Amino acid sequence: MGDIYGNINDPFSRGADIARRYISGMLGRHLRRFGALVLKAILKAVIAFLAPAAVWVLIALFGFALVYAVIFIIPAEIIRTDREAGIGTAVSIFYAGDEFGWTREDDMRLHRKYLELADRVKKPAEKVRKIDGLYAASSVIEDSESQIAAAEPHRVPWGIMAAIDRFLGDPVMTGSSFWAPDPERTYEALKPEMHWKKSIIRTTVEVTWKEVVQQPDGSFVTVTRTETDVEEEEVYLLKKVYAYDATYEYRYKNVTEKWTENRGGRHYSYEVEKEVLENYERYGPYFERVYDFLAENGIKGDDVELIFHLATIYDETLAGDLIALGAYSGAADKPDLSIRYWEGSPGSLKWPLDASYKTITSPFGPRIHPVYGTVRFHTGVDIAVPEGKKVYAAMNGMVIFAGTLGGYGKTVIIDHGDYKTLYAHLSAVNVKGGDEVTGGSIIARSGSTGLSTGPHLHFEFIKVLEGGIKYLDPLDFY
Ligand SMILES: [Zn+2]
Repeated sequence: MGDIYGNINDPFSRGADIARRYISGMLGRHLRRFGALVLKAILKAVIAFLAPAAVWVLIALFGFALVYAVIFIIPAEIIRTDREAGIGTAVSIFYAGDEFGWTREDDMRLHRKYLELADRVKKPAEKVRKIDGLYAASSVIEDSESQIAAAEPHRVPWGIMAAIDRFLGDPVMTGSSFWAPDPERTYEALKPEMHWKKSIIRTTVEVTWKEVVQQPDGSFVTVTRTETDVEEEEVYLLKKVYAYDATYEYRYKNVTEKWTENRGGRHYSYEVEKEVLENYERYGPYFERVYDFLAENGIKGDDVELIFHLATIYDETLAGDLIALGAYSGAADKPDLSIRYWEGSPGSLKWPLDASYKTITSPFGPRIHPVYGTVRFHTGVDIAVPEGKKVYAAMNGMVIFAGTLGGYGKTVIIDHGDYKTLYAHLSAVNVKGGDEVTGGSIIARSGSTGLSTGPHLHFEFIKVLEGGIKYLDPLDFY
């Protein structure tokens, strides 16, 4: 007892504790008795009032619980148990027990269909190639691959298509008596609209070699010969994409690469002039295609939020993106990133960790997700840092979020007026919403919470625009 209620050798502390326990016990008993009486009276009144309608209220409540369980709890549960059983990406989209007339095999087939649709993003590359018919056989494959790589980040995630179909194909929505998903229609509504531009890769090769030539008089001399060859290859570069989630614009710059090599007694001098990606912009209105398609089908408001929520149950990798772009709140007190909450001078951008931690393990931009292997846009940079290290505010500002945020784990978001910074996968948070912080002050400790393969800091630098936000590559500012 001494261990729990204070130091037994300290009579004052012990006496105070005993007194506190006595008073709280007494008060508790009185309050409980009073509370029970009040509750009984309220219940009596409610039952008397509702008695005639009670059966209907119960039926409605039961019906609501059933619908909720079928849509959310059962699929999540099945996905979880399938993963635990090691079935891999086994999923439940419509399957909710055999009695619903939709089998696991039906779900498997549907899942494969969504994956195939998501993969169709690779098709536009072939289309451009065929229409144009300009390519030499040898360059077709190479060019097509670069186009596929450019298009890949814009695939429509299968989880979003499945969540939409789960609503639109529901017998309650269709008035039919069976599940009727329409993956093709959903894909058509959300597929990326891609605009390409032609670009020339010009390769100039200058070969120099020495040759022994017999002169008319019979003597031999060594002469230097030079030959120049210019090859032009046409490629397609992705210029603009109107995707399910945002609009993307890619900008390129001209570069010239030069190198030389000696082979077989000849000197080769290469010069390649081409356009390479300089930067890209991702801007809103975010998820406009999804909202428009759902609105056309009479779905808006809370139902849209439910669809996004369902999409994150099907595919957890979506959570971070959907939350970050404001499609789905994920947390009750998540602030709107496009609103300026703080008026003040942000000062210059400081590194969010001690200077010794500056290894970037995952850069800003498109990448393969380390946990799920899917293609995603990385809205920040990942900085290698062990667990428990100090994380600093990058600029002066006000904390607008401090808590757990889906796949981001423990997260802090700071508003700096025209900018926002986000720090994710933290192990501990030292600030709370509303706190004013100065650049360089400690706000958290690094960690590996949320969807993370190991301790690192995920750091985002966000610009606030009129009616939207834009992700910036933080490394451009150091
Ligand atoms: Zn990251």
